[in-house]
Amino acid sequence: MEPRFLKRIETLRGSFAAAGIDALMVRVEENRRYLCGFTGEDSQMDESAGTLFVTADRLLLATDSRFVTQVETECPGLPVYCYRKQMARELPDILAGLSVLRLGFEDARLSVAEFTLMEKSLAEAGNKTALVAVRELAEKLRLTKDESEISAIGLSLFIAEQAFLKALSVIRPGMTEKQAAWELEKAMREEGADSLSFPVIAAAGENAAMPHAIPGHRVIRAGEPVLFDWGARKNGYCSDISRTVFFGRPDDTFRKVFDAVREAQSRAQEAVRPGAEAKALDHVARSFLDSLGFGDKFGHGLGHGVGLAVHEAPRLSPLSEAILAPGMIATIEPGVYLPGLGGVRLENMVAVTETGARVLNSLPPAIATEML
Ligand code: ZN
Repeated sequence: MEPRFLKRIETLRGSFAAAGIDALMVRVEENRRYLCGFTGEDSQMDESAGTLFVTADRLLLATDSRFVTQVETECPGLPVYCYRKQMARELPDILAGLSVLRLGFEDARLSVAEFTLMEKSLAEAGNKTALVAVRELAEKLRLTKDESEISAIGLSLFIAEQAFLKALSVIRPGMTEKQAAWELEKAMREEGADSLSFPVIAAAGENAAMPHAIPGHRVIRAGEPVLFDWGARKNGYCSDISRTVFFGRPDDTFRKVFDAVREAQSRAQEAVRPGAEAKALDHVARSFLDSLGFGDKFGHGLGHGVGLAVHEAPRLSPLSEAILAPGMIATIEPGVYLPGLGGVRLENMVAVTETGARVLNSLPPAIATEML
């Protein structure tokens, strides 16, 4: 296994004692990939590509026959256990020889059904290993990104931005939201994305007042806001970006809203630095929008971390207790939504540096498509 994975695993082991465990079952897909490099994907909640067992001195990846060759190729040297039934049913066999007393599981992603089956299997086998719920052990390591991760995220953002420019050369009034979303999705794949971070949002006119609108058959008209939110995934790393553009001239209301959101975003971006409180950053944008009378039109948080997952820590919201540190990456995405009329959201990605922050985007927050 590569040294960077072994280093991450050593750091993870250092957190076991405080969590009251002597081993951890890593089931969260992004954590598994982060710790051993196995790129298998879990297509749904009850469908797992494998579980990485990390004990004080041993590693074991339990998976089924579909993934054995892939694990051996991607993670040379990593011992593999191939289960024939369900992982939960074979848990006593997997643990045999690992001498584990308190086995941690990631409570964010294990179903009650599977947990119950694991307890039953252990009891039936007379195995006294205790299952212990833990939260955010590997996630804490993923919170700060190293240089290679930051450049991977930068590449997936670059792909997303190039794709937007390409799609905008085709998207025009008269097209439906669905058609526009497809142009953007297609362009991301053509620009080299492995997949999307999440389904593209393209919302026109009054639909742009819904922060997470689903593209439909609504036709895009000139002079109205069209909100795009999209992201590419490349080498496992995600990007996340939003732009709101007008084909033709926006009216006075939306010109004002656009300028307000842009100013809120740039104030928040300028406040990003190591040591900054996530909730204080949120307040910078929120209090500015509030002073213009838009406070109650900005319902969601200011932003979130992005990495192997498109939504991860740190959360930037009024409730967040996070403190920013060098290596963290977060979105800055204020929005103003006017029900029945439309909305504007602008989303950039910033990396916290030793002294401040670096905006990773190169696409300007332009109001009109011809300015891009
Ligand atoms: Zn976002």
